[in-house]
Amino acid sequence: MANILALIIFMLGGTNNYALSRERMVEEQIVKRGITDEKVIDAMGKVPREEFVPDNYKPYAYIDSPLPIGYEQTISQPFIVALMTYLIDLEGGKKVLEIGTGSGYGAAVLAEIAEEVYTIEILKPLAETAEERLTRLGYDNIKVRCGDGFFGWEDYAPYDAIVVTCAPGYIPRPLVDQLKIGGKMIIPVGESFQELLLVTKTEEGIKEESIIPVRFVPMKGEAEKRK
Ligand code: SAH
Repeated sequence: MANILALIIFMLGGTNNYALSRERMVEEQIVKRGITDEKVIDAMGKVPREEFVPDNYKPYAYIDSPLPIGYEQTISQPFIVALMTYLIDLEGGKKVLEIGTGSGYGAAVLAEIAEEVYTIEILKPLAETAEERLTRLGYDNIKVRCGDGFFGWEDYAPYDAIVVTCAPGYIPRPLVDQLKIGGKMIIPVGESFQELLLVTKTEEGIKEESIIPVRFVPMKGEAEKRK
């Protein structure tokens, strides 16, 4: 009995620590850096990031940095996830496409705000793990697919917004085609030097705005062939 009680107290303690770390992360890394949008803050405050990192990284889940998730890939830094989510003007009722599911964390943050999230991951084991994890956590508005995100996901197009979390050398044409007029895409573009671009689709074509220099993993597949 005492053991069970100790275990329950330990588990509650653990949960509270994560909740506290998450609260601090939102305050120190997001709000203090100028992202004050309520929807983004609420979403970042809800998603249990510790569930998206490997067990040995759980204690570091809320540090101000990307973390390894295996297969030479990373879960993005919390601030970058918040910034990208903020810049695409997401709100309830919207449909968003993410390229580069990775751990599924970014998709979960998007799904806290958007109505439907479609996410594509090129590495099968990551796509499978992310799908299982998102289902277990109750995200029933996210669809995961394994494939090359360069080509987008035609079946559910057009999208209100597109978030790309791996860097091609240039903006993939199919992604622009699958964006609604007035829709926004946030995408890291470049090779050794990358910049985060905010792309707005207009009647005439696209408008590009450079946000900040960044470092994302390269986009694999088709994007590598057509450099
Ligand atoms: N949003 C993720 C970040 C993952 S890092 C998270 O929150 O964890 C970027 C991911 O893009 C990696 O998992 C990588 O395998 C994937 N990726 C690389 N090229 C891709 C492509 N062409 N299509 C889809 N995913 C790709």
